[in-house]
Amino acid sequence: MSEEIAVIEGDGIGQEVIPAAVEVLDAIAETDASVGPFEYVAADAGDAVAAETGEALPDETYELAANADATLFGAAGETAADVILPLREAVGSFVNVRPARAYPGVDAVRPETDVVFLRENTEGVYAGHEDRLSDDLSTLTRVVTSTGSRRLAEYACEFVADGRGPDHRDGFTVAHKANVMRETDGRFREEVLAVADEHGIEADEELMDAFATKLPLDPSQYGVVVCPNLAGDVLSDLAAGLVGGLGLLPSANVGADNGLFEPVHGSAPDIAGEGVANPTAAILSAAMLLEHLGYAEAADRVRDSVESVLADGPRTGDLGGSATTAEMTDAIVDGL
Ligand code: ATP
Ligand code: MG
Repeated sequence: MSEEIAVIEGDGIGQEVIPAAVEVLDAIAETDASVGPFEYVAADAGDAVAAETGEALPDETYELAANADATLFGAAGETAADVILPLREAVGSFVNVRPARAYPGVDAVRPETDVVFLRENTEGVYAGHEDRLSDDLSTLTRVVTSTGSRRLAEYACEFVADGRGPDHRDGFTVAHKANVMRETDGRFREEVLAVADEHGIEADEELMDAFATKLPLDPSQYGVVVCPNLAGDVLSDLAAGLVGGLGLLPSANVGADNGLFEPVHGSAPDIAGEGVANPTAAILSAAMLLEHLGYAEAADRVRDSVESVLADGPRTGDLGGSATTAEMTDAIVDGL
């Protein structure tokens, strides 16, 4: 039986970097008999399809993502919120996995950075109800459940136990603001630490504001970081700034039995159509997809090849080189 991968290129450079990622998946499936076979099913989403049909996320795309084994997604321009939020829901994603890692050969503010954020993906302020109560007053209700907090923590424990966290740190750190939001972050903190304890996983904690100072000063203290939704959004962007280059950062939205894998960058309209986009973030997202499907060794092969190309291979303009997307992709495929 083949595994079905939904491929949603979307807008702008999504149409350039997602085919590069598929090329890498193909090369892996061809050279490793234990991987695949994969059946790719393409679907539309984003500005272009919205302009044609009035719908940024056609029903058939939503259904495809909901039923596929995994989805590879590029980017949507103006319609990003109308596309990505329902797609995350389609795959039932409860955790957003965002590694931020500096690579030898790439300029970074903090070259020793190697952290993975596990961000709660369904609750917090993003699930809250916002109300405009009067001309003067607006409010937001924040949602935290024990179920959601424990589900994230169970994932974090498994992630750490499987050795998927950075090598330099055991266990994980939970970042929160339970000293102020005693009910919501209090519950989150308590449940996450309790689950870690039940699994015998080492867990320490940081107040998220202190963490925002300590991370850039010394990122080597941290490995896996577990956060509520908004905090994870902000803090993982902070970490992205430390490693330099939007073109490098992959992400995974993981659900119970499928997942959506996407580069952190957007559609980059300023360089779209020129064949010069950095394919690394999309290719590393494909590596996360492989890992999610249980092909950990294949995922490592992809990462190793990316790493050696970043160290001394052809690179795109955003990394100071002059290679095209195709040239950099070819080098990564050759390195497999
Ligand atoms: P969107 O609205 O789709 O997010 P954007 O204008 O915010 O589009 P981003 O994709 O977020 O653009 O990118 C921000 C900047 O980083 C742009 O200048 C873009 O060219 C650059 N950039 C992003 N991704 C890449 C990439 N893969 N390769 C090279 N440059 C990139
Ligand atoms: Mg953007």
